[in-house]
Amino acid sequence: MAAFDYFKMNVHRAAALLGYSQETVDRLLTPDRVLKAPLSITMDDGSTQTFQAYRVQFSNARGPYKGGIRFHPDADEDEVSALAAMMAIKCAVVDIPFGGAKGGVAVDPKKLSLNELDAIARAYVQAFVEHLGPELDVPAPDVYTNSHIMGVMLEEYERITGTKAPAMITGKSLDMGGIVGRDTATSDGAIAVLDALLADQHRDITNLTVSIQGTGNAGARAATLLSDLGAKVVAMSDSKGALRNPEGIDVQKVLEKKDAGKSLNDTEFADEPFSHAQYDAEEIIGMSADILIPAALEEQIRLDNVESVKASIVLEIANGPITPEADESLAERRVVIVPDVLANAGGVTVSYFEWLQNRSGETWTKERVAERLEETMHDAYRDVADFALDRNCTLREAAYALALGRINDA
Ligand code: GLU
Repeated sequence: MAAFDYFKMNVHRAAALLGYSQETVDRLLTPDRVLKAPLSITMDDGSTQTFQAYRVQFSNARGPYKGGIRFHPDADEDEVSALAAMMAIKCAVVDIPFGGAKGGVAVDPKKLSLNELDAIARAYVQAFVEHLGPELDVPAPDVYTNSHIMGVMLEEYERITGTKAPAMITGKSLDMGGIVGRDTATSDGAIAVLDALLADQHRDITNLTVSIQGTGNAGARAATLLSDLGAKVVAMSDSKGALRNPEGIDVQKVLEKKDAGKSLNDTEFADEPFSHAQYDAEEIIGMSADILIPAALEEQIRLDNVESVKASIVLEIANGPITPEADESLAERRVVIVPDVLANAGGVTVSYFEWLQNRSGETWTKERVAERLEETMHDAYRDVADFALDRNCTLREAAYALALGRINDA
């Protein structure tokens, strides 16, 4: 199913719970603006290459458009639109005053030099500058973009507009006006939601086992936090391989090796203290654990592997890691799915704190960020869980319904 169709399906379900008319649903499903531009870049060898860029501004009913920009070969209008729409839902779920947007450039960043990537970042701002700004549309990092790219975009925006405007983009480095804790916010927020869910279920994290798909920024941070909290991380995977150790993996040791450039299929991970055995990367989905955390890419749990899932909780740190068919199958089995629009909303929540910080000229402390993030995520979980209980629906249906209600009332 195309990404935007999946979004539509979720909206239709939520709209049915809310009793919305077809007309209201159609309005809520229509993006405000789809911007497209070809970006022509001079490559290091002097040749010119063109990359298609997108910015979809989905809704600003609750505040300025907000959402990341990804550099990925598969970025296209359908995907960027779905992700923009999900941003509007996400911001409404955590009740921050932003709308939803997303950007993308169809490029494989692994094939370009840093210099060429910087040129793409500048060209992106040049193409869409009139639609961007602290009160208008505020981008952030997403897949394969980072604080450095945000800094380049900010410099280009300030150069063109002749203004000082750090609040036009979030996820910047600290020296460019970024906020402490933005880099770990997505996972920190997800673990705060998990913590609230487990409290509801009267379960203690120290008695539970976890498997985590992905060792990028989000997966690595989630693994570290969970092992620090006393959970047993029994399985981890990256794009090349998976490790499993029922006695618990030494997360720090694994991540140190990863930082040194190793992949989980390298032979040195084959033995203790890393694992009992190595597996193919995709086998992570079916490994025995109480909690499964997809923290990598879209569509990882599908009809062909959903039967193998053994976890009773799936925490969606990635965007869209479960296909609609697999989602239904898990719901039938009463597996609790913490949906992406709640689980990974910590990233944009701390982006909001960064935006506030830039606009007030203050510098937030690490403690203030952590406290406000936890409070925001706990409140959001409470709202979603209460709605789900009240209406006897899934957390995903509840999150969408709650968010659509807030957007529609704005
Ligand atoms: N790209 C992140 C997301 O998907 C963060 C967006 C933001 O901070 O604006 O939620």
